[in-house]
Amino acid sequence: MTRRKPVVAANWKMNGSRHLVDSLLQQIKQSGVDQQLDVVLSPPATLYSYVDDAIKQLELNVILAAQNINELDSGAYTGEISAHLAKESGCKWVICGHSERRSLFNESSKVTAQKFIKAQSLGMKPVLCVGETTEEHEQGKTYSRLTAQIETILHLGGIDAIKDCIIAYEPIWAVGTGKPASPKLAQEVHRFIRGMISAICPETAQSIRILYGGSVTPDNVDSMFKQPDIDGGLIGGASLVPEKFIKICQAAL
Ligand code: PEP
Repeated sequence: MTRRKPVVAANWKMNGSRHLVDSLLQQIKQSGVDQQLDVVLSPPATLYSYVDDAIKQLELNVILAAQNINELDSGAYTGEISAHLAKESGCKWVICGHSERRSLFNESSKVTAQKFIKAQSLGMKPVLCVGETTEEHEQGKTYSRLTAQIETILHLGGIDAIKDCIIAYEPIWAVGTGKPASPKLAQEVHRFIRGMISAICPETAQSIRILYGGSVTPDNVDSMFKQPDIDGGLIGGASLVPEKFIKICQAAL
């Protein structure tokens, strides 16, 4: 079996600056990590074009990802950004269904699936975030929650939709809390997700990349990335410190 190429994605949320873009990209260039794994940067939308230009100027392999898109093509939706606009600004991948979009902006799994399919229709790769709340975790409902989230994609896009995407398992209780899942638990959940994909589409199960997200730092990343079904990470807080992000990328090699 060929090894899956690792992915380490920086989700800056509503943080960052041009200065931080310059600093992170320079350090990526010096470290060469973008030559060995898929390094993804997802800054706020106002920085998409700036990041795209800088990636080209520095001749980096960094992949620019949108943090969110609207599921519609265009229209009177003040403040929203379509997939076309994100693509025109250089975005190649799109984060879909981050837990903050789901909980703070009331985005349902159906809307997440619409965004996912819209991204794919334009040739952009969706990064589907799935994860359970603290309550669901405590009640043993993790697997049913994840199944429902992934099934919504299948209902809207069919089996083909799942063939070309990234899945990020982000337990909500671990995102931004400083309390990551244990590597053992994360591995069990990743194995469950891969098993689910295997039942639907066996040829995709071994190639699909499943990332872990939730309080990953240089201190806890090694044991996380050693797990056989963890193919990299979606990194929030630690991605805002270039030195930490590079260390996390190096742990994925
Ligand atoms: C995230 O925002 O996707 C995330 C995982 O955040 P953090 O690393 O800060 O927990």
